[in-house]
Amino acid sequence: MALPQAEIGVFGGTGFYQFLEGLEEVTVQTPYGAPSAKVGVGELDGRRVAFLARHGPDHQHPAHRVNYRANLWAMRRLGVRRLLGPCSVGSLKPELKPGEFVICDQVVDRTRGRADTYFDGPVLNCIPFADPYCPELRSVMSAAAAGEGIVAHPAGTVVVIQGPRFSTRAESRWFSSAGWDVVNMTQYPECVLARELGICYVGVALVTDYDVGLEGVGGIEPVSIDVVFRVLRENVEKVQRLLRRAIGTIPAEPACACGAGAVDPG
Ligand SMILES: [Zn+2]
Repeated sequence: MALPQAEIGVFGGTGFYQFLEGLEEVTVQTPYGAPSAKVGVGELDGRRVAFLARHGPDHQHPAHRVNYRANLWAMRRLGVRRLLGPCSVGSLKPELKPGEFVICDQVVDRTRGRADTYFDGPVLNCIPFADPYCPELRSVMSAAAAGEGIVAHPAGTVVVIQGPRFSTRAESRWFSSAGWDVVNMTQYPECVLARELGICYVGVALVTDYDVGLEGVGGIEPVSIDVVFRVLRENVEKVQRLLRRAIGTIPAEPACACGAGAVDPG
């Protein structure tokens, strides 16, 4: 049976389904196993959009167990060429405050053991990855935030940790002394798998906390999962507004180089 098609994909929590008109829930098979959930495909402001709950419908897949290869492959099978990856992050800098967004431009990978490539052989492909995020989608996202009156820092480095535990004080101190801005558990390998498939990808990082606290600033408790979920809940409407505005303004044809030279993994 032919699958419905979409041009734009969104990973995130379940709340986004409600915006898709003519919603179809699709089970997508992949050579890498099952994606985290069925994919919702529908229309939003005249654009065909595919939505996939990264952690599953009941948040049953923790970040280190998400089948990223299957999730990205499912998006590709549905025809997606632009992908939005909203996520929550801990701030490593006082000026990046809870409730604000960071449109990341760089990634540091501190994960381990995650399947992070489609090229395990015999096809050889070592992709250039100096700039892991799509510059065009980053601009779209910054403009959308400005249009909605939402604070979004236009660049930042995200360090991706393995989880599920949060950082120690020493790790967090190391991350901030290295000049990195925010810490997260899902941006890698999402960003690299998208690029291997020639799909444009942007991370939309909502700051939920200050990781273990801030050096020299008292009264800030180290992050807990309760805090992350509470701040997420408080900001879900803002995330949705930002995504909706962005989706409506993504150029129909990419003017970036993310898809240039993409090699078919087979
Ligand atoms: Zn791109």
